[in-house]
Amino acid sequence: MSIGHFVDGKRVGGTSDRRGDVFDPATGRRTAEVELASAADVDVAVQAAARAARAWRDASLAKRSTVLFAFRELVHARRDRLAEVITAEHGKVLADAAGEVQRGLEVIEYACGLPSALRGAFSENVSTEVDSYTIRQPLGVVAVISPFNFPVMVPLWFVPVAVACGNAVVLKPSEKDPSAALLLAEWFAEAGLPDGVLNVVNGDKEAVDALLEHPEVRAVSFVGSTPIARYVYQRGTAAGKRVQALGGAKNHMVVLPDADLDLAADAAVNAGFGSAGERCMAISVLVAVEPVADALVERIARRVTGLRTGDGRRGCDMGPLVTAAHEAKVRSYVDAGVAAGAVPVVDGRDVTPDGDPDGFWLGPTLFDRVTPDMSIYTDEIFGPVLSVVRVGSYDEAVDLVNASPYGNGTAIFTNDGGAARRYQHEVEVGMVGINVPIPVPMAYHSFGGWKSSLFGDLHAHGEDGVRFFTRGKVVTSRWLDPRHGGVNLGFPTQT
Ligand code: NAD
Repeated sequence: MSIGHFVDGKRVGGTSDRRGDVFDPATGRRTAEVELASAADVDVAVQAAARAARAWRDASLAKRSTVLFAFRELVHARRDRLAEVITAEHGKVLADAAGEVQRGLEVIEYACGLPSALRGAFSENVSTEVDSYTIRQPLGVVAVISPFNFPVMVPLWFVPVAVACGNAVVLKPSEKDPSAALLLAEWFAEAGLPDGVLNVVNGDKEAVDALLEHPEVRAVSFVGSTPIARYVYQRGTAAGKRVQALGGAKNHMVVLPDADLDLAADAAVNAGFGSAGERCMAISVLVAVEPVADALVERIARRVTGLRTGDGRRGCDMGPLVTAAHEAKVRSYVDAGVAAGAVPVVDGRDVTPDGDPDGFWLGPTLFDRVTPDMSIYTDEIFGPVLSVVRVGSYDEAVDLVNASPYGNGTAIFTNDGGAARRYQHEVEVGMVGINVPIPVPMAYHSFGGWKSSLFGDLHAHGEDGVRFFTRGKVVTSRWLDPRHGGVNLGFPTQT
């Protein structure tokens, strides 16, 4: 099967002869090839979007909401199908894929009510009989570039908000799991979105570079690893575009001695190994404030050894990694951790999966006595590897977290409200959970990290999303009246 693009309301093939392989990670089999767009293919999609944007910006707010409501109904009715497509190309277990669809649906629902967020402000009589008001207008064509790990949720962080604000979109999904984005585009069209308002171009660096250079593309929302996010931000802004580029993460969960250790152990396992650790909000470092470490590690190990790794369609807890190359990379980190002297309390390298032996398997791995100089601590592994670092005090814990170059998510587990409040105040991280291990904000708040986890100013969805996809305009208006006559070259002031 060959997977192409979706441009101007229909599936199309491109001109490029470059192709990528798409795998079922649970069987290791190649299930399709995906076209990797050339700059010419990208141009066709951007031109279609530019034509559509001119009419869509004038579509009434009511019309836009009607389309979004219809789209919400379609995605909701077909959520199981979408989850199956995610699992078939990404590998995450079906229940997890369904959760991803649900979080995406919440952004569609937020966008259904966007007319209220697009209301401007009005000041009567800023000067005598002069009024002033603000309006927010769409940017035109915007690009969304998404990572492999959330093939539905991440496109839905941006596309519904961009469209509800009156923009046209070119979406470039990950070439590793491209099918879900095409379904979303088809369903949006079925919901009444005019041709060209949402286009999907599949591809790799060549397509991304073409989007970053295209003069019709006014803004870029990117999500992916930190080196690429930094590159997209620098190149996109140098080309005069508005860019928000969300990058990688290394999320710490701090457990204070007064925490409920069973609840903390449950949370660490869920947040560390859900989606095989391929989440930007996964917990990859557990900071145990002594004397809790021995008791906590014992509880986590007990839970981890009970996890079933296997095919996501068989009711297992944890699926495979996305590709053979990624499996090899994560495996090499486990080797490096052992070589560096960390203690592998649970070693996932010799897992027996409930699935095809050719799948990209690696079981959950728990390391104790990890130190900040080890590569398993410093690097984003993006796999099922949880590292426990032991510290002597709350201050040591917060210093450790704040020394990280990343600042996406973090959590603290404690029953001490004062300590939790202090952590929330002191920690240099964009999203904080208090006894909540994966604090992903709801659609009406905004999602985004700090430091090397986000380049740009505005976060995804919520109020920030609306600001990102619109430009503000301020109108000062006076309805002329004979009393206003007379020449006066002085600078206008309030009278
Ligand atoms: P990635 O950076 O490899 O790819 C992301 C996108 O960039 C893809 O569409 C890909 O085709 C494109 N791309 C890849 N290499 C490129 C290059 N050299 N030049 C231009 N474009 C390029 O990321 P991934 O492996 O698909 O996703 C995992 C990463 O995404 C992790 O680092 C994870 O933390 C991060 N992520 C972050 C968030 C967040 O909200 N901060 C959310 C999800 C994932």
